Amino acid sequence: FITFEGVHKAFGKNVVLDDLSFSVKSGERVTLIGPSGSGKTTILRMLMTLTRPDRGVIGVDGDYLYHEKRGDELLPASEAHIRKVRQRITMVFQHFNLFPNMKVLRNVTEAPIHVLGKSKDEARERGKELLEMVGLGDKLNAHPSQLSGGQQQRVAIARALAVDPDVLLLDEVTSALDPEIAAEVLDVLRDIAKTTDTTMLCVTHAMKFARDVSHRVLMFNEGGIIEDGSPEKLFNEPEHERTQAFLRSVI
Ligand code: ATP
Repeated sequence: FITFEGVHKAFGKNVVLDDLSFSVKSGERVTLIGPSGSGKTTILRMLMTLTRPDRGVIGVDGDYLYHEKRGDELLPASEAHIRKVRQRITMVFQHFNLFPNMKVLRNVTEAPIHVLGKSKDEARERGKELLEMVGLGDKLNAHPSQLSGGQQQRVAIARALAVDPDVLLLDEVTSALDPEIAAEVLDVLRDIAKTTDTTMLCVTHAMKFARDVSHRVLMFNEGGIIEDGSPEKLFNEPEHERTQAFLRSVI
């Protein structure tokens, strides 16, 4: 469903991803772990088209994100094509990134109305449902600044789900929160994971959460994936010495 083939990315001399290839099946929930700077966020940002790869191919459900396939050739995709593929993917960021000047419900309905062309009524109906689901049914008319960090992050989750994404990207969504508040947000995400078949890629240091919700864990180090397996295998019997050391440092 998602494929990375020979993806390379450097920032100046800093090679972040070196000939990286992996794929994720439809409906699979995959957690990306690894030391700081190992390129996990860069992968999510590439899928969001916030960072471009230097080389390599990224496919999403048979489409290509930065290229179009014509015969055997890969040619740069049009901006319109990139936007179309990108529309099926949403991301929740570490720092919520809500629209500060819009009320909570409007934050959630903005993309369905203006990007997907849904009617206002339909978007509001669905928005209310989602805000109920994340426990914020009573905050529809609040401004983001009136909410706690955990509440803001739950709005961001509802907003991401409002476009019915095929792919949901979660980038350290609880690392800016106090542990207790983080646990509440993770509970919401656990429930969502149980009830959707959305493909999920998740960067997190919350290992218990990763163990509970993911089908697969990828361990990144120095530009590539050094271990790829089920959470049971990776957390209980990591093969790579680097994975063992990393897990000792975070658990
Ligand atoms: P973390 O857990 O710290 O977020 P990560 O594995 O997600 O780490 P990335 O955020 O993908 O790592 O960053 C990988 C490397 O790329 C880091 O060394 C970072 O400094 C560098 N980097 C990321 N974005 C940029 C940028 N826009 N310009 C320059 N360097 C960047």
